[in-house]
Amino acid sequence: MDAEEKRIRAFVRVKPAAAFAQDMIKFGPDNKTVDICIKRDAKKGPVDNTQTDWSFCLDGVLHNTSQELTYEAVAKHLVSEALLGYHGTIMCYGQTGAGKTYTMTGATAEYKHRGIIPRALQQVFRATAPSPEGCVTVRISYLEIYNETLVDLLAGAGSRGSSAAPLAVVDCPQGVRVKGLSIHSVSREEDALSLLFEGETKRVMAEHTLNKNSSRSHCIFTIYLESRCRLSSGVKCIHSKINLIDLAGSERLSKTGSEGQTLKEATYINKSLSFLEQIVRALADPRREHVPFRQSKLTHVLKDSLGGNCNTVLVTNICGEAAHVQETLSSLRFAARMKQITAEPLINEIQDPEETVRALEKEITLLKQELAIQDCLANRFFVSYDPLSDSQRAEIKSQVHQYLAGAIAEIDVLNVRQVQEAFKQFKLILRHQEDELEARFRSKYILVDRNDLAALAALQEVRTAAWAWPASSLES
Ligand code: ADP
Ligand code: MG
Repeated sequence: MDAEEKRIRAFVRVKPAAAFAQDMIKFGPDNKTVDICIKRDAKKGPVDNTQTDWSFCLDGVLHNTSQELTYEAVAKHLVSEALLGYHGTIMCYGQTGAGKTYTMTGATAEYKHRGIIPRALQQVFRATAPSPEGCVTVRISYLEIYNETLVDLLAGAGSRGSSAAPLAVVDCPQGVRVKGLSIHSVSREEDALSLLFEGETKRVMAEHTLNKNSSRSHCIFTIYLESRCRLSSGVKCIHSKINLIDLAGSERLSKTGSEGQTLKEATYINKSLSFLEQIVRALADPRREHVPFRQSKLTHVLKDSLGGNCNTVLVTNICGEAAHVQETLSSLRFAARMKQITAEPLINEIQDPEETVRALEKEITLLKQELAIQDCLANRFFVSYDPLSDSQRAEIKSQVHQYLAGAIAEIDVLNVRQVQEAFKQFKLILRHQEDELEARFRSKYILVDRNDLAALAALQEVRTAAWAWPASSLES
């Protein structure tokens, strides 16, 4: 993986506009650069010396790009990596009306206008279809964050009853999790799509009853994947999640003099998006140690989904009209900062020891059956591969002794256990003979260790004394 791949990828998607401000927004021929040029207001005269030109280099500019090609550029690789065990996050950022929901969910009028979520579900189910034994499980949840309140868009959906307890973000060893959020198992693409539809309906209904605007809330659709593969060495369990996020509109509403409910919403959005920006800045700064994820519900939920060990893609949706150029500029700035965050995706893999033992036992049974077939084909009957009994061991011992004595020419062996036992007997005999030899020497001679200098010196003394003795006796 090169350095480029280790960064968060950032794309910009341009909403088709009747009056595209081509003198203000220019795309480079490489389809990666966007230049913004804001002409100085003539009335302000020469005193206005603020910057007027900006250039942004991103991973791709999606201009006049179909839903299908957008999916290919933005999501396809991330989803296939999620199927291998890497967490993935795709989020759409931008002002209201710029095309975030169109990109993420799509328009229902035509099939070809479906967005990233239904296409990701299709890719997941197509990839998992070849394993009918249910090796891969797919589950989904749909969470909305509105004014710092967590809402389960799938509560009560399908067969599950809704839980009355308020939702809460909790940190756990596997990452963050939303306590109380309903997570639904789905075995077919159609079931997943109907849950998505149910969630969307709930979102729209709440919009009417609570008089709230869905562009003021963040929505996170999550696909959880868990695959269990049987290997000869055990069971490998891979789990990953794909977060598909439609963020609230990034426009700075507070400037437009909103009041009441709208002001409250705007304050919450501005806060959570500016916390998101802070997180992005902190993550992009290698010297920063503390990243304040818990400041808002959005950033807390995204704690294990931004950079880090996760594949992250940002789609910045922009409008091409001159009237929106300031918002476009601030969205592009966000994208450029996001692109600086490094990520080091890791596979989320665990081995279950109990499952591993079960798998190994099964493997042993299979291998025994395999051996029985091989023996049968080779006309070898009555071969047992179980551990040797005492009498079988005694038989081999006796054969080894007879072999060494020359009484028999061969030793009967049919399997590896018997070969090992025969070698063990040879080793025992060898050791026994060595001991016997040493004992025999010791009974006859004084054996001294060559390295034991003290013993050697003592021996030398004895030897000298023995030689000297007759001489001194002569003297006396
Ligand atoms: P947002 O979610 O950012 O507020 P929407 O996705 O709701 O914006 O888009 C606003 C309108 O523009 C919708 O009617 C949507 O269908 C349309 N739209 C957005 N992007 C595109 C696009 N790339 N092509 C065609 N229509 C689009
Ligand atoms: Mg929207």
